[in-house]
Amino acid sequence: MTVAIALLTQDLRLHDNPVLHAACAAADEVVPLFVLDPDVEATGFAAPNRAAFLADCLTDLDASLRPLGGRLVLRRGPAARAAADLAAELDAAGQPVRSVHVAAGVSAFAHRREQELRAALGDRLHVHDGSLTALVPGAVTPAGKDHYAVFTPYFRAWSQAPHRSVHRAPKALRTPDGPASEPVPAARPDSPALPPGGERAGRKLWRDYPLDRYAELHDDLAADGTSRLSPYLHFGCLSAGELAATAGRQGGDGAEAFVRQLVWRDFHHQVLAARPRAAHHDYRDRGDRWLPEDDEECAAWRAGRTGFPLVDAGLRQLAHEGWMHNRARLVTASFLAKTLYRDWRIGARHFLRLLVDGDLANNQLNWQWVAGTGTDTRPNRVLNPLAQADRLDPDGTYVRRWIPELAHVPGRAVHRPWLLAERPAGYPDPLVDPAALSDRLRSARGLD
Ligand code: FAD
Repeated sequence: MTVAIALLTQDLRLHDNPVLHAACAAADEVVPLFVLDPDVEATGFAAPNRAAFLADCLTDLDASLRPLGGRLVLRRGPAARAAADLAAELDAAGQPVRSVHVAAGVSAFAHRREQELRAALGDRLHVHDGSLTALVPGAVTPAGKDHYAVFTPYFRAWSQAPHRSVHRAPKALRTPDGPASEPVPAARPDSPALPPGGERAGRKLWRDYPLDRYAELHDDLAADGTSRLSPYLHFGCLSAGELAATAGRQGGDGAEAFVRQLVWRDFHHQVLAARPRAAHHDYRDRGDRWLPEDDEECAAWRAGRTGFPLVDAGLRQLAHEGWMHNRARLVTASFLAKTLYRDWRIGARHFLRLLVDGDLANNQLNWQWVAGTGTDTRPNRVLNPLAQADRLDPDGTYVRRWIPELAHVPGRAVHRPWLLAERPAGYPDPLVDPAALSDRLRSARGLD
């Protein structure tokens, strides 16, 4: 009997999984291994919301492997040591490990993990592209450059590039009896209304999602009509490549608009793969001198008490669900980075503490896009929270849903509580003079 180890990371699924596919093809028996890595915990990345979602994903994956003849083996890391120890155990038990398979990542952490795995396992290690994103980072590049810095030409190149075919889920997967496994760690989320994790929950959401309505609904905050697939994509319960292929086959405005968003995801991943420093440093240094962090304004922003209802609604949705609508993410981020002129890293850290889909590539690079230090071709763009509220939540339903202090205010008047004859009890005054919103950035940057 030959054995292969499939070291799973952000690919917690059976369907369209290049790592499992290769491991099954390489050996008679496969050990699907997940490593709880103290290095991830040390970075604070294993925040309670994502830890709780991850626990669901691991339980779900194990349950899906069992009827195939397999099971998930859970170990404590670092990943390279855990994989090497497992290989040594199996070798010693007369079940020689032929190969260890892992997906390529894009972060500095993933690059380091890969080097450590290589050092520990030598040429038994096989690193597989095309698991994390629909198109492999670096598969398309502009002439003479290592990545695309502008979305539209990337989108064009992405659309014309050949894409790998989708792998079926394995029909059988036998795991040897020996290797011991840790129990799935219990985790208590910070947010009370977190979605359930796992491939089966993700596939059900995808199956039931009315893709044909995506174009019409995705900017309407009250309709809440986006797919909410982001945490499943982050943990790899769903494959971006499979979603893009299925949507591409379906066609139509909704499917096309949806695929465009998946390409944004690929875009940010190819930027981070080429520039891992952009996770924490300005992608484009524009000489910003952000105002100091620890003051009442940042605390009010985090708590959803800025006095601007759309901003506060978004931040309260984040606290309650561990998720926020994309349009609200843009408005809340712009308010912190542009209107309050605070370092984008302050906001990115708060989002990563709570987002169940919190993702280094998508979070940090979207924050940089909003802050003007990233890939936006109009870096001085400022989103006015009042104009955005009138456009994205025209009758105020989204705001009333998330701000109980304003639940009694009818229609779009809810967006400007300072104009009401009677100020709503318990809701704060605006942090910034609403009439001077756009002047704030200009004076902070010294543009006047
Ligand atoms: P849908 O609209 O249904 O889109 C489908 C999928 O496309 C999403 O699940 C996501 O994987 C991808 N996608 C959509 N919009 C974007 C985008 N702008 N950039 C990259 N991918 C996108 N997304 C994350 O997955 N993790 C994050 O940590 C994250 N942080 C963000 C921070 C800020 C400041 C902003 C402005 C955006 C951030 N996004 C992040 C992108 C986007 O807001 C979410 O992906 C989206 O809201 C998730 O909801 P959905 O699954 O319903 O999206």
